[in-house]
Amino acid sequence: MFKLPELPYGKTGLAPFLNEEQMSFHYDKHHKAYIDNLNKFLETDPSLKGKSLEEIVLSSTGGVFNNSAQAWNHTFFWFNMAPTGKGAQPTGPLADAIKRDFGSIDELKAKFVDGGMKTFGSGWIWLCTDAAGKLSLVSTSNAAVPFTNNGPTPLMVADVWEHAYYVDYRNARQKYLETFWSHVNWNFVSENYTTKKVRDLTKAMV
Ligand code: MN
Repeated sequence: MFKLPELPYGKTGLAPFLNEEQMSFHYDKHHKAYIDNLNKFLETDPSLKGKSLEEIVLSSTGGVFNNSAQAWNHTFFWFNMAPTGKGAQPTGPLADAIKRDFGSIDELKAKFVDGGMKTFGSGWIWLCTDAAGKLSLVSTSNAAVPFTNNGPTPLMVADVWEHAYYVDYRNARQKYLETFWSHVNWNFVSENYTTKKVRDLTKAMV
């Protein structure tokens, strides 16, 4: 059985970027529902027993995939934000790679926001790396993750489902994405770039 991971900053820690009502709907209702649904599948499908969340995401389809991937995506999303992100910048090898592959952090931000704006309907905008350290932006629809079918490894993500921002931002997805940028947990992103492995989120959810 999986559980909701603890938020590293509580439900008010990201205000005013994301206020308590927005966080409560997104975390207590949406994210919890994906986990509850996944746990119902676990009760009835013995082939899922003993698997990590990442293993379930990689090996499932249909409802099991949708709910396990959304359980994973949201935990990754919570962990890649921070209250003190404002003014923080990437450093070290990640900063070097951003400069090499995007020109500058500002150009990455512009392309990330643009990619989120162009994600049609519900989905996610990701910064990813390949095994050699080359960065890319990947837009996925609905529950999809970048790392299925030997795809790239996620470093950072913004949820662009309307439920992620509609309480605080209504239809202003661009403003939400630009403000998200000031709350990126660059330590988390850098750790992902160092390992170049799909983040183990199972340990935070069992
Ligand atoms: Mn969401």
